Amino acid sequence: MAPYRIATIEGDGIGPEVTKAAITVLAEACGAGTLAFERLEGGAAHYVRSGHVLPEDTFAGCRDADAILHGAAGLPGVVYPDGTEVGNDLHLRLRFRLDLYANVRPVKLLPGVLSPLRAFEGGGIDYVIVRENTEGLYASRGAGVVLRDEIASDSLVVTRKGTERVARFAFELAAKRRGAPRDGQRRVTVCDKANILRSYAFFRRICDEVHAGYPDVAIDYAYADAITVHMLKRPDSYDVIVAENMVGDIISDLGAATVGGMGIAPSGEIGDAHALFQGAHGSAPDIAGQNVASPVATLLSGVMMLRWLAERKSDTALGQAADRIEAAVATVLAERRAVPRDLGGHASCTEVAEAVRRALA
Ligand code: ATP
Ligand code: MG
Repeated sequence: MAPYRIATIEGDGIGPEVTKAAITVLAEACGAGTLAFERLEGGAAHYVRSGHVLPEDTFAGCRDADAILHGAAGLPGVVYPDGTEVGNDLHLRLRFRLDLYANVRPVKLLPGVLSPLRAFEGGGIDYVIVRENTEGLYASRGAGVVLRDEIASDSLVVTRKGTERVARFAFELAAKRRGAPRDGQRRVTVCDKANILRSYAFFRRICDEVHAGYPDVAIDYAYADAITVHMLKRPDSYDVIVAENMVGDIISDLGAATVGGMGIAPSGEIGDAHALFQGAHGSAPDIAGQNVASPVATLLSGVMMLRWLAERKSDTALGQAADRIEAAVATVLAERRAVPRDLGGHASCTEVAEAVRRALA
């Protein structure tokens, strides 16, 4: 079935650096001829050059590829003629046009990485946040109103269809994923504010309905405010957390902070037919072009990409390549062979990637 077509958009800021690093490692781990990386243009800098954020041939390339690997999109100060920010529009357009409804953000503390949660450095932080990615409060983007310069409002929309599919995704993930919370019980935690808002109560009710089809997976609930405390006090009790779009966005940044920060947190945006993988961080323009960004988040997003492809294509070799990259990243960090700046080291982006590449052998 190989080669697999990987649509690759480097994007803005640190995007090109971290994407190139990931490609080197992915190519080495999978062997020559397994992955065909197809470079495509898009993003805020490309908009400045061409007037297009997501050119049609880039969209077609992403649509027709087996998977999408993305660096990062967005640059401060780049605006459309109406004054609104271009931001990460590239990525938002792909998200909606390809219907990437589940934003999967693993929160896993690797050996040797310092956590502000000292007590868990020996292990115990290993769970996944599944953020609904196509509706909720963020779907109001651009549709909010400001009345007479006195009142502003946005709407929070939760649909049955949108919730059912993301809940099913979360339960399926809990049923099959490796790693388990401390009591060994597979579990989906529904994170919402069902006590305050009807739309969140509806979200919770739909999750309950979907749960009926998964008797081996437990369900429990956490309010979005309370979970910020629990994620710090007892992160080892979580398995899979499912949340509405904005709540999921906020708690996944918190989760990333507990395992080393944005430079280490991967993400996968997954739909029924397509998936896009990128670090959970943005384009970090403050450190762009200096070869100091951490490629780890993008490398681990590449690991997620290989596992997703391995399952879809029933290709066990891809799954093994993913395991080898993950182990190599863990070795490089645990033995401090090459530690990026944001994790307290001095290694450059290319040095970290090269150390991981060598550790694959
Ligand atoms: P977005 O709006 O796209 O989420 P953001 O404004 O939240 O972006 P990020 O780009 O995610 O900001 O990053 C915030 C800061 O974290 C950056 O300015 C940078 O200093 C740091 N950072 C992010 N990614 C990395 C990385 N891969 N390596 C090192 N530092 C990073
Ligand atoms: Mg952010």
